[in-house]
Amino acid sequence: MFATRFAPSPTGYLHRGHAYSALTAFAAAREASGRFTLRIEDIDATRCRPEFEAAILEDLAWLELDWEAPVRRQSDHLDDYQAALMRLDADGLLYRCFRTRREVAEAMASAPHGAMEVFRGGPLPADEAARRLAAGEPFAWRLSLATASVKLGGFGGLRFVEEGEGAIAARPELGGDVVLARKDVGVAYHLAVVVDDAKQGITHVIRGRDLFEATHVQRLLQALLGLPTPTYRHHPLLTGPDGKRYAKRDHAETLRALRERGMSAAQVREELGFG
Ligand code: GLU
Repeated sequence: MFATRFAPSPTGYLHRGHAYSALTAFAAAREASGRFTLRIEDIDATRCRPEFEAAILEDLAWLELDWEAPVRRQSDHLDDYQAALMRLDADGLLYRCFRTRREVAEAMASAPHGAMEVFRGGPLPADEAARRLAAGEPFAWRLSLATASVKLGGFGGLRFVEEGEGAIAARPELGGDVVLARKDVGVAYHLAVVVDDAKQGITHVIRGRDLFEATHVQRLLQALLGLPTPTYRHHPLLTGPDGKRYAKRDHAETLRALRERGMSAAQVREELGFG
């Protein structure tokens, strides 16, 4: 059965960009007589706040969305992520990364292609890693692309379907050796998302174009963990009157601010093309 999700992080209040994404996924579920689920992506306890989670539910209900119960909250499922991590580790696909933020930046700058955006530094020499482990230094777990490639016989066979575009060859190398478990929170975005999409039986991931590149990494993780691959639809990002995309960091007007100045949910829906 068709199933999709809206997966906000409770790090702030929702704005029109979120509303557009949620309404797009909700409309698709309705059209397919399928499931619409909500997932609260709150693994980063340093940035997530319960009051933002409560506000998300309130704003979505105001927009007249309804979703399956129970809501999946990532912080309730850390064991699932740990199990996936252990499986990847047992397959030799991870390495401990002790590098500090600064060391990562230095390793990237000295890489052959100059200022690369992704980390491909690989593990530290074994003796240095052992010394830092023994010294109790915190570490992140990174996925080893080199090992993953050997295990899968290259990435040539990895594809995902983007609605309207057809099959796309996944290029996980775009993401480099991604962090799958952060030093501070013990898990990281890509791992939690692929585990959750599978656990929630998501058949269609509908989300903004800003997450298109993430799909290349997530497709690889699905292959390594033996998880099904949903169909993807990355919708265009909503832009404001100034032509710039809505984003929390630009202080985009929140849904609750719109509500407080008297806008109705019907008006917001209409403005976003869901009248
Ligand atoms: N939590 C992510 C965000 O708020 C979305 C993750 C996803 O849709 O895969 O940007």
